[in-house]
Amino acid sequence: MLGILSLGVATFYAVEPLYSVSWAVSLLVLNLWWSQRINQTLLTNRHFSKRPTVLNELIAYSVLTGAIWSATLIALDSYLSDLVFYLCVMCVAIITVVNIAVSVVIRSAYLAQLVFSLGVIAMWLAWHADQRPFNAGFAALLLALMVFLIITSEWMSKSFSEMVETSLERAAMSKDLSSLTDSLKTRNLQLQDARKQLAEQATIDEMTGLRNRRGVNIIISDELGRMKRAQLPVALIVLDVDHFKAYNDNYGHPAGDQVLQRIANVMLEMTNRGGEFAARMGGEEFAMFFPGMKLSAALEVAERVREGVLGLRIPHEKSPTAEFVTVSVGVVSCVPEWELEFDQLLQAADVALYESKTSGRNRIAVGELPAQRESDLGE
Ligand code: GH3
Ligand code: MG
Ligand code: MG
Repeated sequence: MLGILSLGVATFYAVEPLYSVSWAVSLLVLNLWWSQRINQTLLTNRHFSKRPTVLNELIAYSVLTGAIWSATLIALDSYLSDLVFYLCVMCVAIITVVNIAVSVVIRSAYLAQLVFSLGVIAMWLAWHADQRPFNAGFAALLLALMVFLIITSEWMSKSFSEMVETSLERAAMSKDLSSLTDSLKTRNLQLQDARKQLAEQATIDEMTGLRNRRGVNIIISDELGRMKRAQLPVALIVLDVDHFKAYNDNYGHPAGDQVLQRIANVMLEMTNRGGEFAARMGGEEFAMFFPGMKLSAALEVAERVREGVLGLRIPHEKSPTAEFVTVSVGVVSCVPEWELEFDQLLQAADVALYESKTSGRNRIAVGELPAQRESDLGE
């Protein structure tokens, strides 16, 4: 802008100082007003092309700019040589061609500028065709250029709006897609939670709240593996309610259920450290697993459980061995070898439990694992 202004001022000054002042002032005022207007609009609303007032102002600006170009050229006509005059005409034509970028945003403003600059100059040249040698030729040339620019600007503004529309559509689509992805993610998390809950439910015995056999199977190999790697002892305690059939027969099945729940609570209280668990292995048979526990400690726990159940003082008048409900207990403990399976531990504990049963019930027996290292060795 400054370049054009100084060039214009220099040309006019050479010809007529008064012209240069009026030309510079009019262009400056016009541009200052317009840039201030655009800034203001952009600050308040980015889509200035949609605001009719601003649009009208832009068209007025374009009309004025075009008119200044053509009026200047016409006013200078008598001062310029043929060569300089035609050069000036070419300059206006080139500037108008370059300004085609405006048509991308607001085509009507560009067309206004086109008509008031090239259109007026072409008409004036045609009107004064005999004044200079190439006036008629230039008039025809400018008209052809105008037609070309009108068609090109139409094409440019169309492809620009298509481009904008496509990118807006794309933006909307990607927004839709991301909200869809978000809801799918939430759905997925909900499903995962539900699946986790279901899996958890399948591992818990509903009546007692202890792990069921399935729940034991899920965690036992990890727990056992941990102790195998650390070469720390594990302890397994199994227990079975004594003469429970007789209890059910005498007090009824629901009363029997309550007994199982109360025994489960005794076991739960003793298995609250990491890795420990109590489980209902089936019917009235239970198990307790303790990672890192030696036989001596396991025997203490077993004794506490046995006493704990007896301490519930649940009357069992049909029991031939005790006044109250009792349990028989089997205990095993060892530092597990790599090959040791949980079932082997269970089997050994069951043998011990059977021994407790046959030797009078309401007592504890220790099971043996021949191939394993005793957990209390080396003490
Ligand atoms: P032992 O001292 O030799 O263990 O005798 P027992 O009567 O306890 O053993 P037996 O295996 O003959 O009977 C087990 C009984 O446990 C039979 C069954 O009615 C009862 N039982 C198993 N599961 C449940 C249960 O969920 N609820 C109730 N109330 N009773 C159960
Ligand atoms: Mg049994
Ligand atoms: Mg029993």
